[in-house]
Amino acid sequence: MMVDPEGRSVVMVVEDEESYQDALNIGLTVEGFVVMAASTINQARQLMTTTKPDLILLDVMLPDGSGIDYCREIYDTSRVPVIMVSARTSEVDIVLGLEIGAADYVTKPYRLRELVARMRAVLRRPLVGNEEEVITFAELRIDFVRRTVSRRGIEIELSRKEFDLLALFATRLAQVVTREVCLDTLWWGLELSDTRTLDTHVKRLRQKIEDDPSNPRHLITIRGVGFRLDP
Ligand code: CA
Repeated sequence: MMVDPEGRSVVMVVEDEESYQDALNIGLTVEGFVVMAASTINQARQLMTTTKPDLILLDVMLPDGSGIDYCREIYDTSRVPVIMVSARTSEVDIVLGLEIGAADYVTKPYRLRELVARMRAVLRRPLVGNEEEVITFAELRIDFVRRTVSRRGIEIELSRKEFDLLALFATRLAQVVTREVCLDTLWWGLELSDTRTLDTHVKRLRQKIEDDPSNPRHLITIRGVGFRLDP
């Protein structure tokens, strides 16, 4: 990993459209990222030989090949998270991108705010392949790779958002996670005042992981601040 003296995250942007490349260079720098820019897969390969970014934004349609193929190539040798970016909205592309291990998928046109929120969410996730693939506490076992949760050995069904929310709490076990962080990570488009969606998800999670959801022992509300997952 390239060490930035100010601790900023390094993002490699692989994008051949100049208008996007320029906007991302400026926008992401303003947001506090260090940007490495490549406009072809070959340039990206060269940059990767000298610098390891924390995150890669990878366009699908590049002049010298497919971003999906290049994503596969990256994962052969590296664990760096990749967000696929594409003008296509075809479900096939999205599914394919995620199946090969892309951390997320964004379709053009996107808003910078949305992109940055997703980038931050990806950077907060535990990296696949480190010792935090699985977190076990109390009667719960959370598998980040398979995205499954079991309670007392029995797998419980969680929606994608419920899993993401539980994962967010679990990676900060016994720490307070503010409502703002929850919303910023999972519902990047939502206004802070409209937080009922968050409360609904917390309620559903409690029904699935607590013995007595109205008197939770693990997923605790910190009034006016946020939540804390207690082992
Ligand atoms: Ca392109």
